[in-house]
Amino acid sequence: MCTQTKICIYCGQNDPTKFKGVEHVVPQAFGTFGSETPTLDCVCDDCNGYFGKKHDLYLARETVEGVVRYKKGIFSSAARPQKHLHITLENTPENGQFAGMKVAIDGTTGELLELKAQFQVLNHKTGKKETYFKHDLVNLQLPEDVYGRPGSNGVKGTWVCNIFAPSKAEHDEIVDILHANGIAFGSGEPFLLPKLIPDDDGKHTLPLSIEAEIGIEHRQAHAKIFLNFIAKYLGRDEAIKADWDFLRHYARFGKGAIKYRVAEHPLLPPAKDEELRRLIGEGIVIQIQNMGGHVVGAIRFYGNQTYQYILHENASIPDEHEFGFMFTDGKEPAMLITGKNLSRWIKQYRGD
Ligand SMILES: [Zn+2]
Repeated sequence: MCTQTKICIYCGQNDPTKFKGVEHVVPQAFGTFGSETPTLDCVCDDCNGYFGKKHDLYLARETVEGVVRYKKGIFSSAARPQKHLHITLENTPENGQFAGMKVAIDGTTGELLELKAQFQVLNHKTGKKETYFKHDLVNLQLPEDVYGRPGSNGVKGTWVCNIFAPSKAEHDEIVDILHANGIAFGSGEPFLLPKLIPDDDGKHTLPLSIEAEIGIEHRQAHAKIFLNFIAKYLGRDEAIKADWDFLRHYARFGKGAIKYRVAEHPLLPPAKDEELRRLIGEGIVIQIQNMGGHVVGAIRFYGNQTYQYILHENASIPDEHEFGFMFTDGKEPAMLITGKNLSRWIKQYRGD
């Protein structure tokens, strides 16, 4: 929904030759939505390229949303491991002594990548185990105030650590590197990695636990989807208003800040709207609404995680512009709800 005169909603570019591509409102990696796949012609090629490279792939591969896509059978064209996700084998009987081991998922198939030798040590300050692969170990230091004391002369220390390795040789290699750094790891019996045995479908699976940190790129990617959404459904002229400058500057240049939090509970309608609840559980929902001078947006990806933002205080869009859409891969986008019902739900959710 953009007008004839070209202007980029992110950088203000207005050279008509700089608008050759189209911007997908919901990143292409998240699916296609029938003949109604929402696109914009008011994002310039520079901004489009920046988002494609910096945000969309990141969101599709390196986040909890990315992993949820794998579960839904939506894969990417690259197998690279997820650098920003903490994926570990869950503490279950299948995983046994390998619970907590760090693993990666093949982005093209959703299968586990080959398990790699690693050293894990508990950071007493954060309460979290840290994982080091061979190449990370070379300059590793373990200060006593953070990691505790090694045992010595038969006295048990306070280190909590493990080595997981595919062979005794690799186990010993890790011990040698630790020793070379002055880390007195006792040699002990190695935990040899579980062999990945294919299941009936030929897939290699083990129960996983996945943690993601929501960094600035992640928030920028969401901010971009929001401004796209505003341009698509409220119009380009709404999106270029100064009210939304905070959103465009944050999305495109990482400047400023947005209020952002991950909701503990999803923005679900009351239980009597069971059908709607079921629908929402299946797709991506993006909502923008106006409540007492606050504009609130919500993004929900595939029912797994809900992201709720307070986008802007003292901004106001008309009540009739309150709406929620659902996007499900392979289906047409569906308008979920408009107007007062939405703010009623939000009020219930917030306990207002
Ligand atoms: Zn631009």
